[in-house]
Amino acid sequence: MNVNQKYVWNHEKQIERFNHLGMPEQLTVELSNHCNLDCLKCNYSDLKRRKGLMSRELFLKIINDNTIDKIDRLGLSNMGEPLMHPEVCEYINLANKTGKFGRIHFATNAVLLDEGMSNRLLDAGLGAVKLSLDFVDRKNYLKLNKRDHFDAVEKNIKTFCKIKKHGNYDCNTMLKVTLYEYTDEIAEGLIQRWKEHVDFIRISKVHSWVGGDIGNLSSGIRSIPCQYLFCTLHILWDGRVTLCCYDKEGYLSVGTIRDYSIYDIWNNHSKLNAIRQKHLKLDFSNLKMCEFCDSERYVDIVRYPE
Ligand code: SF4
Repeated sequence: MNVNQKYVWNHEKQIERFNHLGMPEQLTVELSNHCNLDCLKCNYSDLKRRKGLMSRELFLKIINDNTIDKIDRLGLSNMGEPLMHPEVCEYINLANKTGKFGRIHFATNAVLLDEGMSNRLLDAGLGAVKLSLDFVDRKNYLKLNKRDHFDAVEKNIKTFCKIKKHGNYDCNTMLKVTLYEYTDEIAEGLIQRWKEHVDFIRISKVHSWVGGDIGNLSSGIRSIPCQYLFCTLHILWDGRVTLCCYDKEGYLSVGTIRDYSIYDIWNNHSKLNAIRQKHLKLDFSNLKMCEFCDSERYVDIVRYPE
């Protein structure tokens, strides 16, 4: 097991990246901020921003943006459960057909990932999936997720992985476990139980959201610039562009994608560029949410295979 890996900030590389931004490595598009669970880690029932689904018109505007040549990854989840969008498979198919995105992926709690859904997603061209499984047994599942889907979720994950293997689909499967209390025994148990089913297992500890609304888990002030500003563009279901997936309420929104092309907002947006410059100088004045954000400490405790 690879324990306590730390993200290493390469200042020269990031400045170089800033000077030649071009396009984000990943575009994250929130299809839905509805959710069918109420997990402690998200505190979803306290989500204040309006709930909704990304419209087809807006999704098409994003994926058909003619300033995009190629983007490595298109993520379709942010806050909320992507499978609650009734057109998720069709949207994946549409994005695939553009040929502009390397891998299309999302994270799911797997409650709705039944056999039919699994087949449709894989046929549509889903390229990777993070299967969130933040529990080790039924008792824990109920405590952390406040719904009783334990059996269904285990079954769904195994079924999805089986269909993927038998159909030889090019889709990476990752079991993503967020623990409140980590022990080597728990990690080892999870690996033994799941290694024959999924391609990768990642275990990390819970992080805090910007605005600190699940408690003060942050353990200090930032010491490095934030990588999200240099690699990922996040678009909420209503079109607002924000800085990162830590911003569950959209407090850090810099505008709406309805008013910009992907290239323009990524390269020429004065507010976004000013935030990047401040990060590079480690100047977080007027950026309090970034200053106390714990994203730099949110690293995998376990990566399997290493
Ligand atoms: S430092 Fe935190 S709040 Fe700021 S952009 Fe990065 S992840 Fe988001």
